[in-house]
Amino acid sequence: MVFIRICRLFPTLSGTLGSSRLIRRSMASDPAETTRFDFLVIGGGSGGLAGARRAAELGAATAVIESHKLGGTCVNVGCVPKKVMWNAAVHAEYLHDHGDYGFDAGNARFSWETLKAKRDNYVSHLNRIYRNNLDKAKIQTIQGHARFTSDPEPTVEVNGRKFTAPHILIATGGHPSVMSDEEVPGASLGITSDGFFELETLPKRSVIVGAGYIAVEMAGILCTLGSKTSLVIRQTGVLRNFDAYISANCTKELQNSGVDLWKNTQVKSVSKTGRGLEVTLVTKDPEKKNDEEKISTIQDVDCLLWAIGRQPNTNGLNISRVGINTDERGHIVVDEFQNTSRSGIYAVGDVCGRALLTPVAIAAGRKLAHRLFEGKKDSKLDYSCIPTVVFSHPPIGTVGLTEEEAVKSRGKENVKIYKTSFTPMYHAITSRKSQCIMKLVCVGKEEKVVGLHMQGLGCDEMLQGFAVAIKMGATKADFDRTVAIHPTSSEEFVTMR
Ligand SMILES: Cc1cc2nc3c(=O)[nH]c(=O)nc-3n(C[C@H](O)[C@H](O)[C@H](O)COP(=O)(O)OP(=O)(O)OC[C@H]3O[C@@H](n4cnc5c(N)ncnc54)[C@H](O)[C@@H]3O)c2cc1C
Repeated sequence: MVFIRICRLFPTLSGTLGSSRLIRRSMASDPAETTRFDFLVIGGGSGGLAGARRAAELGAATAVIESHKLGGTCVNVGCVPKKVMWNAAVHAEYLHDHGDYGFDAGNARFSWETLKAKRDNYVSHLNRIYRNNLDKAKIQTIQGHARFTSDPEPTVEVNGRKFTAPHILIATGGHPSVMSDEEVPGASLGITSDGFFELETLPKRSVIVGAGYIAVEMAGILCTLGSKTSLVIRQTGVLRNFDAYISANCTKELQNSGVDLWKNTQVKSVSKTGRGLEVTLVTKDPEKKNDEEKISTIQDVDCLLWAIGRQPNTNGLNISRVGINTDERGHIVVDEFQNTSRSGIYAVGDVCGRALLTPVAIAAGRKLAHRLFEGKKDSKLDYSCIPTVVFSHPPIGTVGLTEEEAVKSRGKENVKIYKTSFTPMYHAITSRKSQCIMKLVCVGKEEKVVGLHMQGLGCDEMLQGFAVAIKMGATKADFDRTVAIHPTSSEEFVTMR
């Protein structure tokens, strides 16, 4: 602990562990040459940073090990740069409406290069802020890849140096799944969402593979910004684990906005030609009795993007050395308090495979810090009713149970659905149209609202407040008692019959 105390006395000495005298002092104080902290966090992303900072606030001597850039997926290749791109795409959409609203905007030209440069600057700025915040909180940043050693006490090795703590948090997140060239010849010619953020120019011809929210968002951004975009999905709709109303509407809206949708289709092979990639597709309609397969090709593709799921970052961590159990997909198995199967080692965020969202990782990390360093024994994240937004065009907001889940858990006779679909007033004078759809899932005699689902202009910002009401246990009568805000789309939720 000599090392930690020195850092607290001389905060300017805190920083990336290098060949400083601090290390030698700490090593000298420990015959096993292992630096000790109260809390050792592996992964400087959403969950790890939140847990580390809260633990440090509560007085724990804390270190964060990060192999890439501070901020993790969200800041570098996720929520943040994605939202910047979505904002740009929303500008592109609204350009179509300028004439209807009386503006002569002339010939608007879009520069992907300008946008990318500004976005990258913003992300670098955030990386620096994260680093400063760690320094200010006297948290040690250790740059490098962490792996568990086979020492008897859980110990982590980074670049030949060893670290340990009575409490070790694994918050290593995940990475995009890819198809191998064995599964799909030429698959490696494509990119993933990580590669999307490296694109230097707007692709002219894009093919996105996948039906989850990342595929939907990327297809929407590329198409709206002017890339001719195809979306290849294995079944007939996108977002299949969302409420069926949302899934069907989002599928329709993608097509309305110009995305060329390939249903019941998979990529058979990819090859490189002088003019880009040639993507060969196989379409097989399960409804049709004959096993007929249709082979098609999309040519001159300059962006093939696989958005087929994510995998936990557990490879190379050597977690089996410390007896940590994983599920069949490699996610770390944790209990409701984020305890792994090894005492003193915890996991939060995407690496656990549950509700892969930044605020979930952050909340779980903070709750854990309060439990470990403030003695709040019951501190744990309640994973129910987590609101989430898909930045599609228009955006989707959803919280709580889908209709299907409510019927399954409560029985059809105990579920009452309220829904509506309308054209938002914004579109009253525009030739471009998009729908707004809304659904309330209520259960029991008291009609407790257990699910709220919507897609339409403004739904992204509309959701948070409704999520509070639902978390508090609001009933349909509570919604009805609330006076509407006019003229908005959200007022529909309190006037549904
Ligand atoms: C394209 C995209 C868009 C998204 N959009 C949203 C959104 O709009 N809203 C939302 O809430 N969520 C969104 N997400 C999800 C969100 O980014 C993740 O849920 C969140 O980042 C998870 O946080 P985490 O702390 O678990 O992991 P991460 O943020 O991934 O952090 C893990 C960190 O651990 C590091 N690491 C891994 N292994 C090691 C090792 N062995 N040693 C040292 N360091 C290691 C990694 O480099 C990484 O920095 C999006 C994700 C993607 C990919």
